[in-house]
Amino acid sequence: MSREIADHLKFYEEIGVAGVSRDAQWRHRADEAADVHAPDAHAPVAPIAPPAPLSLESLDDIKTDIGPDCRRCKLCSLGRSQIVFGVGHPKARLMFVGEAPGEEEDKRGEPFVGRAGQLLTKIIEAIGLSREQVYIANVIKCRPPNNRNPEPDEVASCEPFLFRQIDVIQPRVIVPLGKFAAQCLLKTVDPITKLRGRQFDYRGRVLIPTFHPAYLLRNPSAKREVWEDMKKVRDILQATNA
Ligand code: URA
Repeated sequence: MSREIADHLKFYEEIGVAGVSRDAQWRHRADEAADVHAPDAHAPVAPIAPPAPLSLESLDDIKTDIGPDCRRCKLCSLGRSQIVFGVGHPKARLMFVGEAPGEEEDKRGEPFVGRAGQLLTKIIEAIGLSREQVYIANVIKCRPPNNRNPEPDEVASCEPFLFRQIDVIQPRVIVPLGKFAAQCLLKTVDPITKLRGRQFDYRGRVLIPTFHPAYLLRNPSAKREVWEDMKKVRDILQATNA
């Protein structure tokens, strides 16, 4: 069996796909998706900002700056129980960026520990890495009430901390999970369906947007696109490891 097929099956098994559909309509849908993304797939994208200068601060400095009771936006008075800063290797080569903490994350103070987080862990493991080897953060560090979407003023208050985290960690590859993270980092309003399947420059790093794991829980067939993205991530990391 080729490595490609073996990897593919391993990923499917890891993320809980029990079988594949032979339904003709399902295959047709996949072809359509490929057509949508194909023209952009390898298109070079102009850098959106100059490479980041070397950061002189640490993740702890940023955490201290946020403080244990940040009141920079209204989320502080809308029921959040704690700030969810980020977790993982401080010099990770791969960084994932989500949207905002959910209920479980708010309780435990760690990003991506609920159902979507468990799926993210499997996605990470499918490319041969562990949660400890990567870094995981969110655009917003406090849980929005009832998991509603982050609002523009909340993103504006909180995103500078994410940008500083990225500058400290200096990952080779950044994977924004879903629309909010991708739009925040790329400063665009394009939908995730237009951004995924492409590769961008983010301050000298490779940015590969993919679907949010919560979306995958609702739309398991989109796992095939995420696997395509993760293979690209793995290949870039391997190529720059040498
Ligand atoms: N969804 C996110 O975007 N972030 C989390 O930390 C958990 C769920």
